[in-house]
Amino acid sequence: MPPDARSTIAALATARGTAALAVVRVSGPEAVPVVASRFSNEGLAEAEGRTVWVGWLRDGDGRRIDQVVSVVWRGPHSSTGEDVVEVTCHGGDTVAQAVLRALYDAGARPAAPGEFTQRAFLHGKLDLAQAEAVADLIHAESRLGHRTAVAALRGRVSDAVGAVRQSLVQTAALVELELDFGEEDVEFADRDDLRDLLTGADRLLEELVGSARLGALARDGVRVVLGGRPNAGKSTLLNALVGEDRAIVSPTPGTTRDAVEAEAEIGGLRFRFVDTAGLRETADAIEAEGTRRARAAIDTSDVLVYVVDAAVGLDGEERSFLDDLAVRRPDLPVICIQNKADLVTDPARLDAEAEGGTTALVVSAQDAMTNPAALDGLRRSLLHAVRAEGLDAAEGGLVAVNERHRAHLEAAREAVGRARRTLAAGSGGDTLALDLRAALHELGLVTGAVTTEHVLDAVFSQFCIGK
Ligand code: GDP
Repeated sequence: MPPDARSTIAALATARGTAALAVVRVSGPEAVPVVASRFSNEGLAEAEGRTVWVGWLRDGDGRRIDQVVSVVWRGPHSSTGEDVVEVTCHGGDTVAQAVLRALYDAGARPAAPGEFTQRAFLHGKLDLAQAEAVADLIHAESRLGHRTAVAALRGRVSDAVGAVRQSLVQTAALVELELDFGEEDVEFADRDDLRDLLTGADRLLEELVGSARLGALARDGVRVVLGGRPNAGKSTLLNALVGEDRAIVSPTPGTTRDAVEAEAEIGGLRFRFVDTAGLRETADAIEAEGTRRARAAIDTSDVLVYVVDAAVGLDGEERSFLDDLAVRRPDLPVICIQNKADLVTDPARLDAEAEGGTTALVVSAQDAMTNPAALDGLRRSLLHAVRAEGLDAAEGGLVAVNERHRAHLEAAREAVGRARRTLAAGSGGDTLALDLRAALHELGLVTGAVTTEHVLDAVFSQFCIGK
């Protein structure tokens, strides 16, 4: 717990800048007296929880700052578990900052990043996985990002970890009971039962670790690089995908010299498209740099959409580039697009190319500018490439762990693996007990049942001030 966790903190809870309203939040033992000392309605000092007060807030010299609404929450029935006052004033930086200054003068101190949520955690209002979900919810950029954060906030990640924990606690209890009778050399914990419990725990852990992939997609989105020869139609395709003129489109080859990025939501996920300079070796220094960046962008992407001018086709150099890429990044999904289908008068030509396996999708990016549905096939391919089809349509809460959870869950799984091997080898219960305790420790780090200064710092320092 921070040294002055008993102090009263205040911060702006809403974004800065011009807005109709702003909310300043105050939490701590002196929250009510601090606000009451600057508030025109004297009744506030004795306010009960869940009450609303309208009045003028004044500065230390008695000058009116704004007419505000104060909502009082009494601990432990508040978001932080402490007394909380939320002061809603008019928006814009001046008013809210003056309100804050008045409250600091009256004895509150500025809150550190994530300090409200940290207090909620320390007072048992949220576990650590739920606290992290608060940050994910605020930063959610897509429907699935939102849904996974809501599920975690409702305790779905914690429940799933709890289920693993329960079977491990049960196993540990049996093993440790046996150890208590160690001298008598009895084995009253049925070996098959122990094995089944551990197998079940391992399966649950595997599922949870696997959900980190969805977590990363939902949280970070999908990075797609558009590659291909200059003039193949990458910029036009990008514009058609995001529905606005985000990229520069020009009939002169080599115009898109640097990467242009634009975003679109597909299947509930945020896709970030990067239009690169054409992959062409050139004497033009700037364009050569663009080409180098294009290759670098491809190296860090989740999917490559490779655009080919259907009227020109894929040449030998491109084929060898794609072949090399398949060796260098075998895991990178590549979607080939035969663009400018409208220019190809002989449809048999497109079919032949498609059958040759080099080109999976035939489109006209130009037509798609006015008919977005023309790119539905590409959108489906993109979702397929990251194995995210149907996720948006899935019913119910989506459990998805984050990177921090994944690391602890992997460690727990390793410990369970060791325990299973110990059991299979018929060796001592004390080794088994040790592994089970190690696994339980790792699970505790996920939900915060076990905490270290380091873990708390790592989690809460990522929050913004006022959260
Ligand atoms: P980039 O260099 O790969 O980004 O290619 P651009 O998107 O700048 O397109 C190059 C030229 O091809 C422009 O004149 C586009 O209008 C044109 N173009 C792009 N897509 C199509 C298409 O589907 N059909 C036709 N007819 N022209 C296209």
